[in-house]
Amino acid sequence: MAQALLTIDLDAIRANWRALDGLTTGETAAVVKADAYGLGVDRVAPALAEAGARTFFVAIAEEGAALRKVLGPGPKICVFGGHMAGDAEMIREAELVPMINSIDQMLRHVEALPGHAFGVQLDSGMNRLGMEAAEWAALRDIAIGQNLVLIMSHLACQDDPNHGMNAYQLQTFRQMTDGIAVPKSLVATGGTLFGRDYHFDMTRPGIGVYGGRPYMDARPVVEVSVPIIQVREVSPGESVGYGNSWVARVPGQIATISAGYADGVLRGIGPKAYVWANETRCKVVGRISMDLIGVDVSAVTSMPDRVELMGQRQSIDTLADAAGTIGYEILTSLGARYARRYTGA
Ligand SMILES: *Cc1c(COP(=O)(O)O)cnc(C)c1O
Repeated sequence: MAQALLTIDLDAIRANWRALDGLTTGETAAVVKADAYGLGVDRVAPALAEAGARTFFVAIAEEGAALRKVLGPGPKICVFGGHMAGDAEMIREAELVPMINSIDQMLRHVEALPGHAFGVQLDSGMNRLGMEAAEWAALRDIAIGQNLVLIMSHLACQDDPNHGMNAYQLQTFRQMTDGIAVPKSLVATGGTLFGRDYHFDMTRPGIGVYGGRPYMDARPVVEVSVPIIQVREVSPGESVGYGNSWVARVPGQIATISAGYADGVLRGIGPKAYVWANETRCKVVGRISMDLIGVDVSAVTSMPDRVELMGQRQSIDTLADAAGTIGYEILTSLGARYARRYTGA
């Protein structure tokens, strides 16, 4: 069997969520947008609900409707993208809580679904989603008089605790919300690690739950093991893969493994990445193909059937660094071709 195996550890997901929950006194939500960062929301969300999560965040209403089918009635499902044209029926039927981002969305929401719960997203400096101070000033008394259940904003630089933007956004968020008796939420994983000042009533971790930086204490969640299809000898001067980008300098052995960029092994990873053959670290050589990767197994004494691409020996962040990207992109790029196995169910 040449199918690569993706193992997702639901125990680790629950443990990471509980550990993050333990860092704060308020509520800890769970962000499960983009199919739970590519790991499968139909398995991940129920595991998080079991661990104690009562509020879930998704990006768009369609994700929320699908999640409602998975979770059933009860948990709160919030939509970062807010209330878009055409969403009213979905929001009502799936009992979603849109995070209202603009005056337009606010009018749309109260007209289509009067009395239906909503949150408000404020822009505290990131300039991505949310109402600016002037819009909010014009609207806040009206919003507070309706079924407003959460006020939130988002930090632009929470992967860097030393960035001055964090304190600036904290101060801006406070100025916009001081004295309003509605639950508030400012931070995702990164800001959860900044301490109480940043926590307000609810934190919204995503990546930390899935085992990624900047939550350094996270348990690894994802393991990818890839079968070796073929092993060959190469002589000095022989090249490997498309474009002859790698050429052997000494006699060696190359294993061709059964995964490629169609499985989310980003092409940019090529020159700096490794896989593990048991305890031996093996360099990726040549270009990553759609379905295949060459690795230098010259140092391997007893050839295994499979190599580890991610797991205990190599984290999603190590791989992300090799590709010049972030763990989030590694996870959400995992393709549909893997055999998926969940442990800790
Ligand atoms: C994705 C997202 C989160 C979760 O961020 P992590 O860095 O993965 O913890 C929280 N809030 C908002 C608004 C987001 O878009």
